[in-house]
Amino acid sequence: MRVLVAGAGLGGLCLAQGLRQAGIDVAVFEKDASPRSRTQGHRIHIDHRGDDALRTCLPAPLYRLYLDTRGQPNERFQVLSAAEHRLREVPIPGPAAPAIINPGSAVSRLTLREILLAGMDEVVHFGRAVDRFESGDRVRVHFRDGGSDTGDLLVGADGIGSAVRRQYLPDAEPRDTGVRWIGGKSPITSESSATLPPGLGGSFAAVTGSDPAMAIGYLRFANDPQESADRLWPGLRLTDRADFLMWAITIAAAQLPDGDATLSATDPATLHQRAVELTRRSHPGLRAIVEQGWPEHTFFLRMATSVPLAAWRPSNVTLLGDAIHAMPPAKGSGANTALADAGTLTRCLLSARNQGTPLVTAVGDYEKEMTDRGFDAVRASTEVLESFGRELINGVPEPR
Ligand SMILES: Cc1cc2nc3c(=O)[nH]c(=O)nc-3n(C[C@H](O)[C@H](O)[C@H](O)COP(=O)(O)OP(=O)(O)OC[C@H]3O[C@@H](n4cnc5c(N)ncnc54)[C@H](O)[C@@H]3O)c2cc1C
Repeated sequence: MRVLVAGAGLGGLCLAQGLRQAGIDVAVFEKDASPRSRTQGHRIHIDHRGDDALRTCLPAPLYRLYLDTRGQPNERFQVLSAAEHRLREVPIPGPAAPAIINPGSAVSRLTLREILLAGMDEVVHFGRAVDRFESGDRVRVHFRDGGSDTGDLLVGADGIGSAVRRQYLPDAEPRDTGVRWIGGKSPITSESSATLPPGLGGSFAAVTGSDPAMAIGYLRFANDPQESADRLWPGLRLTDRADFLMWAITIAAAQLPDGDATLSATDPATLHQRAVELTRRSHPGLRAIVEQGWPEHTFFLRMATSVPLAAWRPSNVTLLGDAIHAMPPAKGSGANTALADAGTLTRCLLSARNQGTPLVTAVGDYEKEMTDRGFDAVRASTEVLESFGRELINGVPEPR
């Protein structure tokens, strides 16, 4: 069995690790030229769903390395008010104050991706954007810059703008939430530590009560990541070694002077300048955190969500993670469900191979579990965004 994976994000790489461990031939095609050619976010929350999948898919020393390079435990979500330039915790708005997140850990997204790429030089092909596929007894992918490859199964793990989904399930286009995110990362300084409430250490916070709304959280590594790598996977270089603060401006698209196309094409340093301008009337401590940000780590995102779909007939093409069930980051679930999909698909393909059952049956079993879990998470994340996100972020339009 040969599996072709479009996209070397968290889900596609976790799947590739799992398949390779099981001795299944796998090739991953990634459109970016290298793992560091673009910022994909700084800090993510990983809970038991992501943990279980990483334990299933990674070789034992890499799973150990993931555990050792996590940040602090992340137990809850809080809302801070910056009204009148006083930063204090306030109750989560909305009728039911749900737990919002499952307990888990803060994780550097870059570190996790570097761990998922370890030992995969022969498997992952950078600079190969998947353009389209042809499916018959086998499936052939065509690359944007020419050339093709053939396998028994194509997995579209190519994120929210998935080329595989556009061709395979053209009605499943994501829906805009109207929210935009300008994110960055800053060093932890005595000034930022004096500004932020001590309770933020074990949580992630939305900041309201001043314009624009923000999100903020620490990443404090439990161990020196490089020392852990030297011990557990010698030769692996991990980029992030210093603790940091991750921040984001969360703002309605209509309140940004530039449109999506302009902001997506803006270089990180200019985007950082925009973030500094946007926060010039914010709480002075928050403004200082943005000003101290490393300009090259600033990035822009358009927040979209997906619309749950009715079941379709399984085939030798399938989808995983954001490619099929993208969701707002309100519950810290997108990466966790993408990793869980990778764990489920690894298990289903392995059992098809071991029991000699048809591949398409394994894909059907996977898709049932994946869509139930994924669209439940989409509904829950969208509900959180709609129950209180709109109260926190000025000017976000009602959902259509
Ligand atoms: C700001 C922010 C914060 C978040 N925080 C959290 C959190 O705390 N916890 C959590 O669980 N989730 C979080 N999420 C969601 C999470 O980041 C995503 O759900 C997760 O990355 C999805 O993984 P994926 O592998 O499906 O897609 P991605 O990680 O997006 O990977 C897709 C890959 O496919 C590549 N690609 C795209 N098109 C092509 C093509 N045509 N050919 C080849 N390759 C292609 C892309 O370059 C990319 O590398 C957050 C999201 C955002 C935006």
